[in-house]
Amino acid sequence: MNTYTSRVLVVGTGAGGAVAAALLAQAGLDVVILEQGRSYEPEDHADVITSFTRMYVNGGVTLALGNPPIPIPLGKAVGGSTVINSSTCFRPSREKVEAWDCLDWDLFQTSLVSVEERIHAVPADESLLGGNYTVLKRGCDALGVPIKPLVHNLDGCKKSGRCTFGCPTGAKQSMDRTYIPDAVAAGARLYAEHKVTGVRDAGEKLTGVTGISPDGPFEARADVIVLAMGALATPAFLLRHRLANSSGLVGRGLRIHPASRVAAEFDEIVDGDQGLPQGAYIDHWRERGIMLEGISLPPGPLLSGLPGAGFAFKELAARRRNIATFGVMVSDTGAGRVRRGFAGAPFTALYQLTQEDAENLRFAMVRLGELYFAAGAKRLFTNVAPMPVIASEAELREFERIPVKPGYFELMAFHPTGTCPMSVQPRNGVVNSFLRTYDLTNVYIMDGAVIPDALGVNPQLTIMGLAHRAATLLAERLQGA
Ligand SMILES: Cc1cc2nc3c(=O)[nH]c(=O)nc-3n(C[C@H](O)[C@H](O)[C@H](O)COP(=O)(O)OP(=O)(O)OC[C@H]3O[C@@H](n4cnc5c(N)ncnc54)[C@H](O)[C@@H]3O)c2cc1C
Repeated sequence: MNTYTSRVLVVGTGAGGAVAAALLAQAGLDVVILEQGRSYEPEDHADVITSFTRMYVNGGVTLALGNPPIPIPLGKAVGGSTVINSSTCFRPSREKVEAWDCLDWDLFQTSLVSVEERIHAVPADESLLGGNYTVLKRGCDALGVPIKPLVHNLDGCKKSGRCTFGCPTGAKQSMDRTYIPDAVAAGARLYAEHKVTGVRDAGEKLTGVTGISPDGPFEARADVIVLAMGALATPAFLLRHRLANSSGLVGRGLRIHPASRVAAEFDEIVDGDQGLPQGAYIDHWRERGIMLEGISLPPGPLLSGLPGAGFAFKELAARRRNIATFGVMVSDTGAGRVRRGFAGAPFTALYQLTQEDAENLRFAMVRLGELYFAAGAKRLFTNVAPMPVIASEAELREFERIPVKPGYFELMAFHPTGTCPMSVQPRNGVVNSFLRTYDLTNVYIMDGAVIPDALGVNPQLTIMGLAHRAATLLAERLQGA
């Protein structure tokens, strides 16, 4: 059996783990990094199906059980979900961060700025925004609703239009192209295709983990262990091994930002898949917890989400270049739960959309529909069971009035958080403001799990900022020890 020994062990190489590993290694600490996925180069990012099967957990089929069931795709690669995400970078609001009562806003800003510089987070140039933006902007201008370019971690984007299947030109400054190379350059030892499955002894401290790799079983021992497997796998791992749960909160409090989309058919060619898939956003209804953000899909995934069958569907498919899409996302008013996985699954997630969130999603879709009709759309496609097609303003008003239930919506979610919340009160959190678990004095959690509530914006930058701050403080403590 291979045995790895280090001062610090980091499990997971996504938004949290990569930043933590880099900062700890750059501080001169001996770091081992374990990641279940493989390392990929831009030329490995081939077709859509290959990307799903290689770079997504369970080939992209991970979901929360409930009515409706909600797919929550996750990345599995060196770089984690940042390899297959849309590269949108949003700072959390000051109000939100201060409400957590765990962070000094000014210090946290320092971490956020440092991360932004490293991953090259800058507002997208208008030339990258593509046809989805062009048509929607026309509607926004007509109705006086601001639409703005999103900030992206990109350098030299070639408009491949397929961020969520891995950037084929290497323009996306995901963790595999930034913080992981930094960690390795600073001496960290990276072991890809190493899946952590078990633990060594755990009393007040956890002495190490065990797992499986292509070379067989392995063991990794360390003085300090940073868990960064993501907001679904980390709590499931803790629950499976009965760790760090004196608060009873591990796995509870799952927020996901339930999301859907509206597609709109135009007379003109839109070619929404040429440009940044998530180029622009509308936060006009932010007070209600609603964000509208760009989304575009390659033809296959786009068409599989459109209604109809037979000849009518064939006709619609032939007009795919005339179809624009934009996403809607709400801040959860409820919460789900993660349990340990069964039958070999890494986790089991349960999530019931609330009636309030269903109403908010419908509200967001109606506003988007108004913008589309103002832009000249002929028909809307909603993915909402009673009215999947809306062909006029009058039908949009009807859609606004009909009773909706959570089960009517076809949803997805990309932002799991909240399952090991940070808090200054041990009874309200799994980790303290240093992201150290209350129960195990040498175990830290540095991933989306520690965000204590629905963030309201895309979380990768916040997760990176939290890991940056916590790893900086941890490095200082370990250097002084
Ligand atoms: C399709 C998609 C689009 C998205 N778009 C955006 C966006 O534009 N902007 C944004 O802010 N957010 C976006 N997100 C969300 C964002 O990518 C995540 O919130 C963020 O990456 C989470 O960071 P993390 O460190 O918590 O986990 P992850 O980045 O998911 O990393 C966890 C890592 O741990 C590894 N791991 C898990 N279990 C084990 C194990 N047992 N052993 C070893 N390794 C393990 C995984 O393989 C993975 O590499 C998107 C997500 C998806 C899926």
